[in-house]
Amino acid sequence: MYSDRINALPPYLFAAIDEARDELIAKGVDVIDLGVGDPDLPTHPHIVEAMRKAVCDTKTHQYPSYAGMPEFRKAAADWCRKYKGIELDPATEVLSLIGSKEAVAHIPLAFVNPGDVVLYTEPGYPVYKIGTLFAGGEPYPLPLTAENNFLPDLDSIPANILKKAKLFFFNYPNNPTAATADMKFFEKVVEFCKKHDIIAVHDNAYCQMTYEGYEAPSFLAAKGARDIGMELYSHSKTYNMTGWRLGFAVGNSALIKGLGKVKSNVDSGVFDAIQIAGIAALCSSQAGVEETNKIYEERRNTLIEGLTAMGLEVKPPKATFYIWAPVPEGFTSMSFAKLLLEEAGIIATPGVGFGEAGEGYIRFALTKPVGRIKEAVERIKKLQL
Ligand SMILES: *Cc1c(COP(=O)(O)O)cnc(C)c1O
Repeated sequence: MYSDRINALPPYLFAAIDEARDELIAKGVDVIDLGVGDPDLPTHPHIVEAMRKAVCDTKTHQYPSYAGMPEFRKAAADWCRKYKGIELDPATEVLSLIGSKEAVAHIPLAFVNPGDVVLYTEPGYPVYKIGTLFAGGEPYPLPLTAENNFLPDLDSIPANILKKAKLFFFNYPNNPTAATADMKFFEKVVEFCKKHDIIAVHDNAYCQMTYEGYEAPSFLAAKGARDIGMELYSHSKTYNMTGWRLGFAVGNSALIKGLGKVKSNVDSGVFDAIQIAGIAALCSSQAGVEETNKIYEERRNTLIEGLTAMGLEVKPPKATFYIWAPVPEGFTSMSFAKLLLEEAGIIATPGVGFGEAGEGYIRFALTKPVGRIKEAVERIKKLQL
């Protein structure tokens, strides 16, 4: 009944864990869910208020424009200048998105022919691979390891792969490893992509979720990046707006145009009222972002202290709301996730769920109040490891 592309989807690895979780919940176990990367805090109130007003204005009720309201694209360009130091032409270098996930899925449709290789960092957001498969491309994962500070080794890619490579997806601050990249790495990517005629796509979903003064750079700020690349931004994590579905793509105008061509034939843009709320998010005070980051930072410290006390070696990340921890000796990522769930009632995501290169690790999302994280730490301490 299903198409080959659906039948070719990788098996759903979490079925066993989901089942165990549902059983525990049905039994009345108090499960602490640190599995999903979805902010538990609400959208900032001034954004909700902007939406409330906008939705009452009947002018927002018709089809939106494909590329996004000019006001939204200008707000995105202004935000990029102010917080990322990059200059963009709102008319040609900015495109509104129904969240950045759809862009990741649509970009291969715009640029990849069957047989073309798509490079992506692994462990990673699963859509880089799935979007590639849907477009008939060949996914080629670049493993991220602790030895390489979770940056891909671009010199390790065989020549026959490089010859067929068309696109490169990468993501820093990184989900799931919480690693960050500096300008030097981005400059290396520009040089690499220019040399091999590869389109660079940087997923910058976590660039505002940072700690202790760290500022996550824009890939487009790297010299020459504008010639070969685009970058995806998302309201989801920055403004606690995952449910609203809003983001924007910026970068090389021909690339933005290519993505826009796919989108205008598949979706019909972002609801204007949501774009208006999105403008309020981008243009008003960012104090809410800072407050939220303070909350994540306290949670981060609590979990790190607990894991360190147990002998699990984890450095506090500079960005994202994830803790990427090596599993104890004798466990796989899956067996440790099962132990945490069954013996401690804690849900965390086994690293292998983000690709084979994630084996040996587990991801905790800091998406529960600090009291619950303390409780999780107490429960983990009681485990016989
Ligand atoms: C959460 C996340 C996104 C954002 O997805 P949206 O569709 O904008 O909600 C993009 N990339 C990564 C790596 C993520 O973790």
